[in-house]
Amino acid sequence: MTSRNSKKRFPENLLPASGQAGVLVHYHEIGLKGRNRNSFIQQLQTNIERRLAALWPETPARARRLSGRLWLAAPTLDQARQVGRELAEVPGVVRVSIAMRLLQDLALVQDAALELMLNGAPFASFKVAARRANTDFPIHSMELNQVVGGWLAERLPDKKVQMRQPDVTLHLEMIEGAALVFTESYAGVGGLPVGSGGMVVALLSAGIDSPVAAWRLLRRGAEVIALHFSGRPETASTSEYLVRLIADQLRPYGGLQQLVVVAFGSYQRQIAAAVPPALRIICYRRLMLVVAEALARRHAAKALVTGESLGQVASQTLDNILVVNAVVSLPVFRPLIGHDKLEIIATAQKLGTFAISSQSAEDCCTLFMPRNPATHARLDEVERLWAQLPIDEWTRQMMAELEYVDLNQKAAVQ
Ligand code: ATP
Ligand code: MG
Repeated sequence: MTSRNSKKRFPENLLPASGQAGVLVHYHEIGLKGRNRNSFIQQLQTNIERRLAALWPETPARARRLSGRLWLAAPTLDQARQVGRELAEVPGVVRVSIAMRLLQDLALVQDAALELMLNGAPFASFKVAARRANTDFPIHSMELNQVVGGWLAERLPDKKVQMRQPDVTLHLEMIEGAALVFTESYAGVGGLPVGSGGMVVALLSAGIDSPVAAWRLLRRGAEVIALHFSGRPETASTSEYLVRLIADQLRPYGGLQQLVVVAFGSYQRQIAAAVPPALRIICYRRLMLVVAEALARRHAAKALVTGESLGQVASQTLDNILVVNAVVSLPVFRPLIGHDKLEIIATAQKLGTFAISSQSAEDCCTLFMPRNPATHARLDEVERLWAQLPIDEWTRQMMAELEYVDLNQKAAVQ
């Protein structure tokens, strides 16, 4: 058992009188139920420490529990800001605050509060929001508001104390063994810590949607194996290069375990030769899901993920989704099913995948595409055609030739 579980207090005598700068990481306790809670928090600690270790390997950071949140000490406030910006992107983090941790001494707290306010963004109005979690501290929160607020007002004569929507709120907390002071806070990405939700296989094209879909599962704590179908040998490998760049964009969120590529072009060619144009896309998609399911079973993943959105293109009607879905037994998650394209694009922009996906690449999707795909395929008709294709043999071949991309190697420039 690590010391992580112990409720040991911080060694107060190590706190200098001027306090310690750091990042206070808030997570949603409401989302963390019962016995899972501890393991969720431990997972978040691990993910945070890993992300920082990847960026600053020389100075390993420790994320310690502090009064229902996590605390990461930093040498200066500026460095705390840098760390905070990184941590806001870690799934499970709801908010980060750039704070000072101090001894529980009113004079020290007031000095730190003044310094924080003077060093932060310009403001005209402020208020103090005190909280006393540790009832041993003799002054209760209402009185703290008044005392500290009054002390600050005296030293900031040109600033207005304003209770409703002030420019700056000085948060002051008396927690067990220490005081926390902060004014600066940023929203985090939310969700749950990656690694807490099991493993999925996400079908990742170089398009706009599927990277967002994969990220939605990462954000809810799942680990993701990304599976890409390249048009090779019928097309160039441009889509593979773009997918690799997309994977690099998703990696900092943690949990992207693997990128696997299948050379799909020759199978598509064979489907195109055997299946009438209107039903080809359905058959390509079914074959993709069959391979994705085989990959999922190999890695004990328990679900598949696609970037489909209802009605967006011909292959994404309810009838067609039903016919495609019928070929696998694992659950297929479509986190974007109810999203509009503009919403998906906005998320893709935030993730930094949009610019990559906007570059055109010939992948297997653009290959052997019929002009008029069916919008209401019938299952019995597709099953009849399907039965004539050597699906098991193809699947065995593709599984034997899967290409596992080494994500630690830099992407080769194309
Ligand atoms: P995307 O923007 O994700 O490519 P799309 O709007 O182009 O989606 P389709 O081409 O119908 O829609 O693809 C639907 C889903 O099928 C994709 O979101 C993706 O999950 C999967 N998919 C399509 N093509 C590929 C591919 N080449 N490799 C892996 N998955 C794919
Ligand atoms: Mg696409």
